[in-house]
Amino acid sequence: MPTPEDLPRKIILRRSLRHHCPRCDRSSVFRSTFRLHERCPHCGLPLELEDGWSYGAVPLNYTLACVVWVLPVALLALFGVLSVNTAVITALCGVLVVPVLTFRFTKALWVGIYYAAVPGELRVREEGEKGDVH
Ligand SMILES: [Zn+2]
Repeated sequence: MPTPEDLPRKIILRRSLRHHCPRCDRSSVFRSTFRLHERCPHCGLPLELEDGWSYGAVPLNYTLACVVWVLPVALLALFGVLSVNTAVITALCGVLVVPVLTFRFTKALWVGIYYAAVPGELRVREEGEKGDVH
């Protein structure tokens, strides 16, 4: 029987893209629309850690907003399809709306990226070990 650390990275990422726990795949990582469970309700894997998680998900979120919204709008302005003023207003609106729309995707993806990068962290931990995860 494979241990959690033996899970292929693509399985870990696939589970996180479905918003499921990267270790057990039996529970959602979210407890509400915008909040992660602190730990997986089924296996206890830490999902929301005090420091570090938002620092990964937020840049991922804004990178996604720039790639799917700001870059196309800038190209439309560059090629004269949109005026510069329209492009700036459209881009600003997009960077406010796109991160909200993609928040769950990037938050769950960040959990998957973390555990895919450090699969040893998938091993079973006791409640008191939360602070040792980093
Ligand atoms: Zn789990």
